[in-house]
Amino acid sequence: MITVLGSANMDLVVTVDRAPGRGETVTGRTFTTVPGGKGANQALAAARAGGEVAFVGAVGDDEFGRGITSLLAGDGVDVSGLAVSDQPTGTAHITVDATGDNSIVVVPGANGTVTSLTDAHRAAIDAAEIVLLQLELPLGLVAEAARYARSRGVRVMLTPAPAVPLPPELLTAVDVLVPNEHEAALLAGVADPVAAARSLAAGGGDVVVTLGGRGALRVAAGAETAVPAFAVEAVDTTAAGDTFAGVLAVGLAAGLDWDDALRRASAAAALSVRRPGASSSMPDRAEIDAFLT
Ligand code: ADP
Repeated sequence: MITVLGSANMDLVVTVDRAPGRGETVTGRTFTTVPGGKGANQALAAARAGGEVAFVGAVGDDEFGRGITSLLAGDGVDVSGLAVSDQPTGTAHITVDATGDNSIVVVPGANGTVTSLTDAHRAAIDAAEIVLLQLELPLGLVAEAARYARSRGVRVMLTPAPAVPLPPELLTAVDVLVPNEHEAALLAGVADPVAAARSLAAGGGDVVVTLGGRGALRVAAGAETAVPAFAVEAVDTTAAGDTFAGVLAVGLAAGLDWDDALRRASAAAALSVRRPGASSSMPDRAEIDAFLT
């Protein structure tokens, strides 16, 4: 089983010709609500790809929380350990202008109330082969979860996003670190993603740096593997990294070797960029299988 301990947000997306300046009001073109949050995205990607998945974290007692919960449950994710907080469901307020540039305000809401491990978290981690973590919950909780999982012999995979400097005791409890190239550079303090990955892997874990349309690179003690991207027409790369991480976890939890698990993750991420949206773009297992044959 795969346990995802992470964030759930509702993304509130407006498109505008031009983002408003200070004190200015502009008329928007469109408004959409899109379930997201890196935790919920990774849980959904893993479940679609055929993984047995539990999602723990927190949502509010509101329409957004119920919407995200039923989306996850509808794809077979176990949400029985997901807490309902007295704070509102986390939201991301996203403004996208005509050039595609965006500005984002994130309100953590319920996500910010997940400050220490509960019995439900521990039970979900104990039942898992792999626990998936990101950095959209309080950092102290993420570090506590990583250390707990490590102490129980459960493999820890961390997507270090959004990029912030990490306490060493968190990094040393991670078995598989999956940064994108910007996150790798920030964490290692080295601009070149390959050098950054090598430096991060020196701690002993596996590092898989994702490189967008250029694929990914795995660096582990004594081994470096380039993972080519599949050539597709990219429509929307939202949640490509979350799809990649979720599907990589499914492969590793199922006992696939690294090359096969990375190939499936790469295929799923490529399929997701061919379609708009986050949750709406994630492929299921049959589609990944068909793409790879
Ligand atoms: P993030 O979304 O976290 O920034 P990346 O942009 O590095 O992550 O993308 C994650 C993975 O998604 C890549 O390693 C690659 O496998 C796949 N991917 C991303 N963009 C493309 C693309 N244009 N064509 C094919 N695959 C892509």
